[in-house]
Amino acid sequence: MSSPVSRSSSEGNVTRLRTGADLNLPQRFAHRAEMMKASEIRSLFAVASRPEIVSLAGGMPNLSALPMDMMAGVVEKLIASNGAEALQYGSGQGHPKLREQICEMMALEGIKAHPDDVVVTTGSQQALDLISRIFIDPGDVVLVEAPSYVGALGTFKQYEASVVHVAMDEDGLIPEALRNAIAEVQARGQKIKFLYLIPNYQNPAGVLLPAERRTEILEICQKEKIFVVEDNPYGLLGFDKPSPNAMRASDSENVIYLGSFSKTIAPGFRVGWALVPPSLKEKLVIASESSILCPSNFTQLAISGYLADQPWRDQIASFCKLYKVRRDAMLESLDAHFPKSATWTKPGGGFYVWVTLPPEIDTTALMPKAIVAKVAFVPGTAFYADGFGSWSMRLSYCHPTPERIREGVKALGGVIKTEMEIREIQ
Ligand code: PMP
Repeated sequence: MSSPVSRSSSEGNVTRLRTGADLNLPQRFAHRAEMMKASEIRSLFAVASRPEIVSLAGGMPNLSALPMDMMAGVVEKLIASNGAEALQYGSGQGHPKLREQICEMMALEGIKAHPDDVVVTTGSQQALDLISRIFIDPGDVVLVEAPSYVGALGTFKQYEASVVHVAMDEDGLIPEALRNAIAEVQARGQKIKFLYLIPNYQNPAGVLLPAERRTEILEICQKEKIFVVEDNPYGLLGFDKPSPNAMRASDSENVIYLGSFSKTIAPGFRVGWALVPPSLKEKLVIASESSILCPSNFTQLAISGYLADQPWRDQIASFCKLYKVRRDAMLESLDAHFPKSATWTKPGGGFYVWVTLPPEIDTTALMPKAIVAKVAFVPGTAFYADGFGSWSMRLSYCHPTPERIREGVKALGGVIKTEMEIREIQ
């Protein structure tokens, strides 16, 4: 048995440090570290990103529609004209100029906001983390759609929330199911901290919440004094018509709105924001400063320069065109190659289709067979905190070419049909 040493075993010029197991690290971690587990999606990425696999798994924006020479010009101009500010620390709340431009952008979804109420974050993922840190004590309930965004579920779990899923249909969250869920949680004597939902082209289900449901859900939450966290990274990516007004447009007191440039410009900038009720702003800025001091001035000013000088609305229209062609390719090939007993959503925007198979099919067990057939997807259980969803899957059409999407859906349809034959499912 080799004895653990801190800087002993060297191979060539590389000196090996002690591993976590050598140091008994897990026993030393704080309790909350137990909740830090890689998501199902994360472990899939390594396999799904092999070039021979058609990945219908990841939700990476397709940057082939973004002119890189134009972006290079934006960044070059920024450094040449304002490099000293761009490369310096900035405000914890975010750059004032960008916060103004964010308000102009949110006006497209009916939101009247003041830049003082906007907090810029490192992607909206950081906003989710900060809000969780501020609101969630262990055991507090967070209501979420069924299914919901895997990155949010992971964050809520790390803060030891008790996540309660609320049923959806093809029009998103069902208000009556929300009333019932609230009543059940209250009957158990648990505290509900907020409802988290993605009203536009939901991740993973691709569905859109109609205006009437938005109003009804807001009324329920106002009455019960439950905050609504409206996560809206896909709202401007509607293919045929604009999405209804944001929920925040009709309630500035009770709605925490999260936005992001990841899908409308590029995720590499890592710039998102939270628009919050004034009473929450200070806490959010303090929480953010303690994790990152301030969001990157460099990427904020690059985005600000881009929004000021470039036709960003046309750019979003180009993205929509690109995604729409891919959505069509996916829906057509699902019709052609999936079994008749499967159902799926028909998104009017965004990146995702949610497929429901006969309940005897376990999509996690199907994954290795799909990989052999050179296609990857995300099994449905990734989008539930409670192990539900085993006969569903998320397919994303945002990244591969339409030809590859057709190839992948055909291969996956074959895998599912074979599985159904083995199990003698009609
Ligand atoms: N919310 C939802 C619903 C998402 O799909 C994503 C990214 N896939 C995020 C938040 C995080 O986005 P970002 O941090 O890049 O803004």
